[in-house]
Amino acid sequence: MELYANRTRLLGTESAFKMGDDIRRCEKSGVTVVKLNLGEPDFSTPRNISDTVVEELRRGNTHYTDPQGIPSLREAVARQISETRGVDADPARIVVTPGAKPLVAYALLAYVNAGDEVIYPSPGYPIYESWVTFVGATPVPLHLKEAKGFRFDAGDLERLISPKTKLLIINSPSNPTGGVLTEGDLSDISGVISARAGAGMRILSDEIYEEIIFDGRRHASIVSRPGMADRTIVMSGHSKSYAMTGWRLGYALLPSLDDAALFRQFNINFVSCVAPFIQEAGKAALENEENQGIVASRVREFEVRRDCVVDGLNRIAGIRCVKPEGAFYVFPNIEGVCKTLGIIKAYEGLPRDVAPLTSPASLFQMFLLYHHGVATMDRRSFGVIGSEGEHYLRLSTATSLDLLKEGVARIEAATKDAEGFRTFFARGRHFYLGAPE
Ligand code: PMP
Repeated sequence: MELYANRTRLLGTESAFKMGDDIRRCEKSGVTVVKLNLGEPDFSTPRNISDTVVEELRRGNTHYTDPQGIPSLREAVARQISETRGVDADPARIVVTPGAKPLVAYALLAYVNAGDEVIYPSPGYPIYESWVTFVGATPVPLHLKEAKGFRFDAGDLERLISPKTKLLIINSPSNPTGGVLTEGDLSDISGVISARAGAGMRILSDEIYEEIIFDGRRHASIVSRPGMADRTIVMSGHSKSYAMTGWRLGYALLPSLDDAALFRQFNINFVSCVAPFIQEAGKAALENEENQGIVASRVREFEVRRDCVVDGLNRIAGIRCVKPEGAFYVFPNIEGVCKTLGIIKAYEGLPRDVAPLTSPASLFQMFLLYHHGVATMDRRSFGVIGSEGEHYLRLSTATSLDLLKEGVARIEAATKDAEGFRTFFARGRHFYLGAPE
């Protein structure tokens, strides 16, 4: 009898969390690694937020809470969502979770039966595809194209909607591309949804990067479009805006009280509640006006870094990089480099058991790490299905300007190091993250 249940084979993962072992291996061998792989702000949590936790702990606020979230935090979240999206966000329809991530699982478990279709962005946050396959749904990747600035339009979506579509996941600003949907895009997209989608199709709108948006643009949400509030789950949280990734605090606005009750029940079954002192800190983050200035100055810093990295990458022969409008990632096209270094040819010659675990972009990613000391993420880390022939990397700008410049310089050196790539490939090791030594 098999030890692990069949379903465990369907669960994907987030490679960013797997990368630590390879980085440690490199560092052990004496290479210093410039880490452009990290999906979390390098800034610290604002002091006023941390102070709140200390006070709450001293007060002894350490017991279970309402599984849905403490009322005062739900009120603060509802106010923020109402003000920024122009919708009526009832605190009774807010559910607080340990980080935003569980909300992806909750949505798949709540709405999707095996065999239903789920449309989700690719490249996209890998946890979407992981849960889509885990629940036995049919994955329908919505391919985001560089030529469209990694946005998609109503026509792209219309082609994918069918009577079986149960859930549509959208993410703007996007991880990993930094693409941002405009008011106009969302207006067209919601038009197609109203015309084509069944009444039972929900939208999971992942807006975790809502604050990190550049060039004077403002965040736009599908929930604000006519007819969409009744079917949209707005998902967001504190991780990115307030540099609180390790605190684990996220939340959703659900479209109905019944949906909220179900998500509350998932909390009861999985986690009981989020720690009360963390929830109080989350409320302070939203309500203390000092934080608006802190967030704004950090966004300006992300914008400066984006400009520097995009310009640097676009100066390298064989690399082309769209200027992202939000989040803290850039997503360069490296097809030219994959050709000139002979990576595509090398990939095509790989044995049949290894080839499906890697890709030309993954080989370049590993070459960058092991030979040039730069950690990046490959295209496959953001959705495998249909990613063949797409040659991209994700670089995070959540590190200092000096390190970013050093990282880009190392990438440039790697693009000219055909001899180095031949040596790397001939060794036959490290063709993908976590490969056996
Ligand atoms: N959605 C997206 C698009 C993300 O990039 C992330 C974090 N990398 C999350 C959700 C999850 O955020 P959290 O850390 O709050 O669980």
